[in-house]
Amino acid sequence: MKALVLGAGVAGVACAYYLWRDGHEVTVLDRNEGVALETSFANGGQLSYSYVAPLASPSVIPKIPPWLLRRDSPLRFRPELDWDQWRWILEFLAACNDATADRTTERLLRLAFYSRDLMHELVRTHEMDFDYVQNGKLVVHTNRQSYESAKRLMEYQRTLGAEQRALDPKACVELEPALEHMAPRITGAIHTPSEDAGDTYKFCNELKRIMTSGPNPVAYRFGVEIERLLPWHGRLMGVETSHGVMEADHYVLALGTNAPYLLKPLGIRVPVYPLKGYSLSLPVTDERGAPRISVTDFKRKVVYARLGDDLRVAGMADISGRRAVIDGERVDQLVTEVKNAFPDATDFRKLGPWCGMRPATPRGTPVVGGTPHANLWLDVGHGALGFTLALATGRILADLAGGRAPRVPLDGFTLH
Ligand SMILES: Cc1cc2nc3c(=O)[nH]c(=O)nc-3n(C[C@H](O)[C@H](O)[C@H](O)COP(=O)(O)OP(=O)(O)OC[C@H]3O[C@@H](n4cnc5c(N)ncnc54)[C@H](O)[C@@H]3O)c2cc1C
Repeated sequence: MKALVLGAGVAGVACAYYLWRDGHEVTVLDRNEGVALETSFANGGQLSYSYVAPLASPSVIPKIPPWLLRRDSPLRFRPELDWDQWRWILEFLAACNDATADRTTERLLRLAFYSRDLMHELVRTHEMDFDYVQNGKLVVHTNRQSYESAKRLMEYQRTLGAEQRALDPKACVELEPALEHMAPRITGAIHTPSEDAGDTYKFCNELKRIMTSGPNPVAYRFGVEIERLLPWHGRLMGVETSHGVMEADHYVLALGTNAPYLLKPLGIRVPVYPLKGYSLSLPVTDERGAPRISVTDFKRKVVYARLGDDLRVAGMADISGRRAVIDGERVDQLVTEVKNAFPDATDFRKLGPWCGMRPATPRGTPVVGGTPHANLWLDVGHGALGFTLALATGRILADLAGGRAPRVPLDGFTLH
């Protein structure tokens, strides 16, 4: 079988890997000159298997007015004359209820645990160098109310198989001494020992190396703009690109935030809208000042991960249009967060600022599975969890394209 994977972000590369492992003839297309050069480039690096609860929940509603009014809030909204933006927000608000949030959490946990199994199998199978660590994660709360609801969520997630424990401030610092500066603000934290972290860009390049160095290598075609999908009698007969028409038996569309534009002419709507986020890659100058365990500041929505010699810091969710342009004010705010949390970690002379567009759906669930076109498959909308979920969604799509039933149920992830 010939398969074309459209898009070489972490979603496309992971799917290409499983298609290749299944023995198919695989070609990956991307407009950039390498893999993972857009949203998968410098994200938070968290393999956040037990922290999948969606942003859309009832607890978010009272936070929205302050978030909208304060310029340094973790979530920022700049209204545009764009119906897609408003529709996304309305659908997001409609999803902010307990029943939807619980259902989404349950489905995402199942997918994330499957992804964790696949990641562990992958690193057992291949020698890979992507600053991968199995170091666990501490989600730190600085507000009593949020800590109490985190403990309730922990109890709920325990029933779904997540192993977590609540820690008081003293126990937090014992576990992660670099939290010393933050300690006076900490109310408590949830510790998940089974969380991993790694560098997504390096991960994608390592997977590419594996798939291109063995027998039946995957072909990567870079600098190719995908312009149009060509439907024909309930199937796709090809894709029109800047380098001519390309054909295959199966097509997996993994185009991140660009997916809606290519799908719209086919009458397919995926509710993906870009949520802009920022990261810093800070060289660690004081080993004791930088956390070894991945840390999330729950209130400020900032994540910290040790990736090799760097501390990767990521945060912010800006609903502010489609342009991936860095706003200096947001970078300054992220720097202030690090200075408040881990002032000794780095000397702040090299910031490595970056921004990326999360391909977010209102409910927080990726869109995975078939379309009305029998040989067109979707692998999009991974939002804030693309690195975490990419192996699971990639494996599922390779199974579907190969005519096998996926290992996890797809309810909640398919096109309506
Ligand atoms: C600040 C930030 C922090 C994050 N932190 C984490 C984290 O800690 N853990 C986690 O799991 N996730 C995290 N994420 C989310 C994660 O980065 C994304 O979910 C993931 O990168 C999405 O991958 P993708 O392959 O769907 O999209 P992309 O990586 O954007 O890939 C899409 C590809 O399609 C190509 N493309 C698009 N249109 C065309 C076209 N017309 N022709 C040719 N090629 C095209 C692009 O060039 C691109 O390479 C974070 C995101 C951000 C922004």
